[in-house]
Amino acid sequence: MLRVDVAVVGGGPAGSIVAREAARGGLKVVLLERAPNAPLRCAGVISLRAREELGIPEELVLQRLVGVVVHGPQGTRAVLTADSPKALVLDRVGLDRYLRNEAREAGAAVWEGISADGWDHSLLITSREKLAPEFLVGADGALSGVARWAGLAPPGELLVGYQAEVEAEPRYPGHAEIFLDPAIAPGFFAWAVPTGELLRVGVVTHRGGKGYEHLKSLLLREFPESRVVRISGGLIPLGPPPSTATERVFLVGDAAAQTKPLTGGGLYYGGLAAKLLGRLLSEGRQAEYERAWRGELGREIEFALRARRAYLDLSPAELDYLVSLLRVPELGKFLLTRGDMDRPSRILVELRRAPHLWPLGLRALKTLGGFSRFAQFLQ
Ligand SMILES: Cc1cc2nc3c(=O)[nH]c(=O)nc-3n(C[C@H](O)[C@H](O)[C@H](O)COP(=O)(O)OP(=O)(O)OC[C@H]3O[C@@H](n4cnc5c(N)ncnc54)[C@H](O)[C@@H]3O)c2cc1C
Repeated sequence: MLRVDVAVVGGGPAGSIVAREAARGGLKVVLLERAPNAPLRCAGVISLRAREELGIPEELVLQRLVGVVVHGPQGTRAVLTADSPKALVLDRVGLDRYLRNEAREAGAAVWEGISADGWDHSLLITSREKLAPEFLVGADGALSGVARWAGLAPPGELLVGYQAEVEAEPRYPGHAEIFLDPAIAPGFFAWAVPTGELLRVGVVTHRGGKGYEHLKSLLLREFPESRVVRISGGLIPLGPPPSTATERVFLVGDAAAQTKPLTGGGLYYGGLAAKLLGRLLSEGRQAEYERAWRGELGREIEFALRARRAYLDLSPAELDYLVSLLRVPELGKFLLTRGDMDRPSRILVELRRAPHLWPLGLRALKTLGGFSRFAQFLQ
């Protein structure tokens, strides 16, 4: 039996960042990752800010995105192009390896190929030996075993994503394509993201949906000439549970559903919370974790959950109408220059400062059924 300060279950980005920060703070840390060579299950898109704040090196950036092409369900299309890069596509498999290595260099013991199999509130049973940690961190993804062992509730909702890496020429170089089509991605959206060498084409749906079949339909419809290199799937948790910590157990990353409800992105929010948790643990202030991460991200997650409910209420014709609005040059420019993919609620503040867009906004609201239709989502 090995006594440690912190045992971290899960060596994805969130777990490695917690381990790195806690080890840098002088704690004795073991990081367990049962599948260190798992295939890509992520589009790898993050903001420029996220790369900087999470300390992700340049060499893991495969592609810079200068814009986005949005496809409505009935054929309307809007192409938004900025003057400079707005997002990055990462080598996600390389990122996981890089962050685990950083944890190792900071002094954490990284146990690769080892699983955590149970927790009796004092000992962590692993496939190698028992650990007696002062604190246990569950960074073990959307179906967190640690959460279950600690009696913490699961996330509000689990979506299912399938992604193919395909050989195909990007139709819009330097742009991500987004498909807002309930027939292809019921409950969410689909995408095609260029990496430089391949295209990542993905579909996210409600659980129990036919995501794999939808992905194949999307590939046939949009990229009929493409050659599929590999397909993988993963879960996306949305809506954090009411509690993500006990006195000695802490959830982080997807295990705590620290994801963006409008895009499913979890690298930035999970990474931020992981940095926070690692530091709080090393300063003996871990009791502040729940309040601290919610203070940082809670408002944005709440806002995006509401916006998602409003999105799900829209008919295909209404979605197409919204896409047609994106073609209005002033609105496109406004979104590209003032939108913030990490803090979507800021768009409301920005809108207040953009009176030239108010008539367009009011017209759109009226066309979509008036304020009363959306009031329920804003409460
Ligand atoms: C199709 C798809 C596309 C996505 N695209 C994006 C995107 O473009 N941008 C973005 O920001 N996010 C994206 N995401 C979300 C992002 O991938 C996740 O939010 C992120 O991986 C969460 O990191 P994590 O470290 O919390 O969990 P994970 O990356 O899931 O890591 C958890 C780790 O824990 C390990 N583990 C689990 N149980 C045990 C155990 N008992 N013992 C030992 N190890 C264990 C697993 O092997 C795994 O490696 C996407 C997700 C999907 C499914």
